[in-house]
Amino acid sequence: MDVHHATVATLARRVACFHAQKTPFRIYHGSTNSTRSTTFSDDTSIDTSGLKNVISVDTQAQTCLVESNVPMDMLVAATLPFRLLPPVVPEFPGITVGGAFAGTGGESSSFRYGFFDQCVNWVEVILASGEIVTASPVENEDLYYGAAATFGTIGVTTLFELRLIPAHDFVELTYHPCHAFSEAQQTIAKLTASADVDFVDGIMFSETEGLVVSGCLVNLNHYGQGQAPPTVSFSRRWDQWFYLHAQDRITTHAHLEVPYRELTPVTEYLFRYDRGAFWTGAFVFKWFGIPFNRVTRYVLDWLMSTRILYHGLHASKLGGGYIIQDLCLPQETAGEFLNWMNREYALYPLWLCPIKQNERISMNPHTPATNDSGKTSGEPLLNIGVWAPCPSGNRIGCNRRLEAKLKSLRGMKWLYADTFYTEEEFWCIYDRKWYSGLRKKYGAENLPDVYEKVRTIIEDGRQNLGILPSITGVFSGDSCLHDVWKAVWSVWPLVGIKAIFSAIRGVEYLK
Ligand SMILES: Cc1cc2nc3c(=O)[nH]c(=O)nc-3n(C[C@H](O)[C@H](O)[C@H](O)COP(=O)(O)OP(=O)(O)OC[C@H]3O[C@@H](n4cnc5c(N)ncnc54)[C@H](O)[C@@H]3O)c2cc1C
Repeated sequence: MDVHHATVATLARRVACFHAQKTPFRIYHGSTNSTRSTTFSDDTSIDTSGLKNVISVDTQAQTCLVESNVPMDMLVAATLPFRLLPPVVPEFPGITVGGAFAGTGGESSSFRYGFFDQCVNWVEVILASGEIVTASPVENEDLYYGAAATFGTIGVTTLFELRLIPAHDFVELTYHPCHAFSEAQQTIAKLTASADVDFVDGIMFSETEGLVVSGCLVNLNHYGQGQAPPTVSFSRRWDQWFYLHAQDRITTHAHLEVPYRELTPVTEYLFRYDRGAFWTGAFVFKWFGIPFNRVTRYVLDWLMSTRILYHGLHASKLGGGYIIQDLCLPQETAGEFLNWMNREYALYPLWLCPIKQNERISMNPHTPATNDSGKTSGEPLLNIGVWAPCPSGNRIGCNRRLEAKLKSLRGMKWLYADTFYTEEEFWCIYDRKWYSGLRKKYGAENLPDVYEKVRTIIEDGRQNLGILPSITGVFSGDSCLHDVWKAVWSVWPLVGIKAIFSAIRGVEYLK
């Protein structure tokens, strides 16, 4: 702990300096799983990348003490030897504890445990003044409940005590085919009501083809001799990507009267979407014009982990051609949203993940209670992951329509992705009075606010990111050789090749 205290004290002094100079700062930790384009400057950021240790695991209390920059794969590797697991493990191995807390984290166990921040017993925070405080249900409780999903706009989190649950060696997966959104929703409702089910998520491949996948933590001794289902893995280069494997289950086992089951080791399950980042890795093949099949996936496997894909995305700034959004709605209105999406855009696959919302309002997706109690309505939510090439190239228009429809159906988006709301629209959705009050109380008003951090800047009707500089523009102006060189490297396929080399060489991609 001495090293931790010394690191935090140094960070706190730097925060205090920013405070004295009234300089807004951002939090840099060496990586990001957010898709919003961000650049950091050393002069205006706090570097928490040194906070990367799991300090202890308490097997009696079933808790662990973990610094904010610990990624999920490292966290799981530290707790699993004690046969313990965090209740919610966001699917990408590089998502950090601090990022999942401050940036909304959820997974297929969230129908039971809620968002990632619900696994936190207490958190150490450096406030904007440089003061170091602890927030828990009994100490600075408004900060504890409110800081989640505030994207680092209240303070810098440095240490967490996380609750853990008993782990088993395997997850038994059951694939439930569905032929309509309503059937998928009914299956989700049935499975999430069962005490025996630990994980539930689903994928719709079209309006009439999809499946819900449930998971139960099990050990092999749970089965009689020769009774265990077959075992499958998703992390080796010759393994099928999880979403393709799941789709195969629909056709291969359509004749079965009971849903198909199989076993996978627990870490294989938790990070099953890592290779190919759900299905977004397929966009890379398409962009380069490379056929997408088992052989090409095998050959290019080294590029397909989420860490490399995020690096490539940020280094190339090619995200502008895609709709990347997680949209959370009450189960009650989610069906209407899915039908509308199908009519208007028909973007598939779609990821479905049921989520229990927090009791208190926060910047996490939620539906506020009708009275002014600061509580949520508590109704179950369905998260819909929309990750697809932009229909008809109209990224702004399409995103704006999605946002408007979402709002009309009482939904909220996750803020890791681009946000196109105007400031006024944004604060009609999120509770400005509560948020501003929290920032004022904890002296964070000099920090950028959430809207400022997550909005997408639109200039002259064009979005300012992801648009390739025009070579012709460069040649027609008084440009120097450097501009020409930059322009050459900003066209297909060079911009992609450059991003790949940047990822391979581990070049800094956020500064
Ligand atoms: C296709 C796709 C699928 C996704 N699926 C999931 C999913 O299933 N589950 C899930 O949870 N997420 C998912 N995400 C979202 C993404 O992974 C989240 O944005 C994630 O929570 C970010 O984690 P990070 O550690 O990289 O944090 P960052 O992206 O680096 O940061 C997120 C925010 O937290 C703030 N922050 C980071 N560290 C600190 C700190 N120490 N103190 C204060 N503030 C801090 C940052 O300033 C930033 O505003 C998905 C994204 C994509 C593109």
